[in-house]
Amino acid sequence: MVEDKVMDLAVRRGFIWGPSPNIYNGGVSGFYDWGPLGKLLKNKVESLIRKGFSSMGFWEIEAPTIMPKIVWEASGHYSGFLDPIVKCMKCSSIYRADTLIKELHPNEKINNLDFEGLEKLIIKKKIKCPKCKSDLGPVQTHNLMMKTTIGLDQEAFLRPETATTTYLLFLDYYRFFRTKLPFAVFQIGKAYRNEISPRQSVLRTREFTQAEAQLFILKDQENDYEKFKEIEEEELPLQSHDENSPKKIKLKQALSKKIIKKQAYAYCIYVAYKIAKSLGFEDSKIRLRQHDPKELAHYADDAWDLEIKTERFGWFEIAGIHDRTDYDLKRHSEFSKQDMKVQGQYPNILEIAFGIERPTYCLLETSFREEKVKNEIRSWVYFPVGMAPIDVAIFPLVRKDGLPEIAKKIFKDLEKQFICTYDETGSIGKLYRRMDEVGTILCCTIDHQSLKDETVTLREISTMKQIRVKIPELKETIMKILYGEIIFEKAGKLV
Ligand SMILES: [Zn+2]
Repeated sequence: MVEDKVMDLAVRRGFIWGPSPNIYNGGVSGFYDWGPLGKLLKNKVESLIRKGFSSMGFWEIEAPTIMPKIVWEASGHYSGFLDPIVKCMKCSSIYRADTLIKELHPNEKINNLDFEGLEKLIIKKKIKCPKCKSDLGPVQTHNLMMKTTIGLDQEAFLRPETATTTYLLFLDYYRFFRTKLPFAVFQIGKAYRNEISPRQSVLRTREFTQAEAQLFILKDQENDYEKFKEIEEEELPLQSHDENSPKKIKLKQALSKKIIKKQAYAYCIYVAYKIAKSLGFEDSKIRLRQHDPKELAHYADDAWDLEIKTERFGWFEIAGIHDRTDYDLKRHSEFSKQDMKVQGQYPNILEIAFGIERPTYCLLETSFREEKVKNEIRSWVYFPVGMAPIDVAIFPLVRKDGLPEIAKKIFKDLEKQFICTYDETGSIGKLYRRMDEVGTILCCTIDHQSLKDETVTLREISTMKQIRVKIPELKETIMKILYGEIIFEKAGKLV
């Protein structure tokens, strides 16, 4: 299966390692390390999301990751961020009640069940511990927040999302933006959730990076939103809660048909879509799916997920767009006793929440390719333009005749401008295969002809074709190829 091959490649080639800390008993599930290539890829995803928000009017801030208990009481996480769990009476294994039921009885509708309902179902279906077949105890609640202590005795929690820590600064933003609404901010940083037995590798972890953006807006501004005019003609793959598949529809129409209720919210959906496109996901692999209104949090007015089609997990959420109404500012006003009303009302919050790890993994998976070349299976990764961790690999054809010296010189020069790697530890065929597996776009080889006419070969990953390029023109040629300014075959003399 493709997904196993992708994970195998990710581990073998230094994208994702773990669980962490792996040398101690194989690590703890839900924690992963990003190896050198994975980190390069993740950084690219993060910087494109940052660029996406910044270029659409959002200002970046940074808040602490630890907050005292009262913050989470106000946000609702302290009493409401709970998972239902069951414990085996004999072997003490712990399971998430809803996940366990879903695995054993996939057709059972459990989305609207409360904890009591789950417990009744476990009894009715006679569900036992999958490990030792003994009886399970009652359904208990498990708070997903990680607890810590500030100083000697102040109870505190690691943030389960960046969003809450962003809302708290509302009055400061209000002054900063000279008391004019709407205004938009975002934060990129770590968040923590103490999941019970997370199993979906890097897609569900206990520590992860979020990029969450908020638009603070007055109620009467939501349907008179200036920026909406710029994007109302854009067509998005929208799947409203009563449809089974996405349809391309202009945002203007989505509003007139009341699929989306507010101009400003439609803009937020567009921001999420634009960012997903900038990461290089193909249109056929993106959809925006509306939540069933019955499943919304009590304060939420609307919620959509941006999903990517993966082999491993089907449609998978990489971002959520939430209309949180004025719930958050009301709650934090109440608990902090600071008046957050402005112009006679609590502003609404419209939110775009991205994870960084999920799109990074999805990118690796959707870029994975496999094909038969001369009785051999060639597996390679074809990243969208600009996303490959390594731009150019430089090899001497042999480790003698002065070729490594020239190759190292070229490497030193190219390194100033591109992410490069130098390798002389194998046959050229083996080196190419290694680079194919990590998605390196170009391989530059220095051979005996280089000594005669100061040219080198460049090989391109998708076609495996090679051209000869003059060394003094190499930098500029690579630049043009990488940024799609010139077709590879026309960038030099085809070999
Ligand atoms: Zn058991």
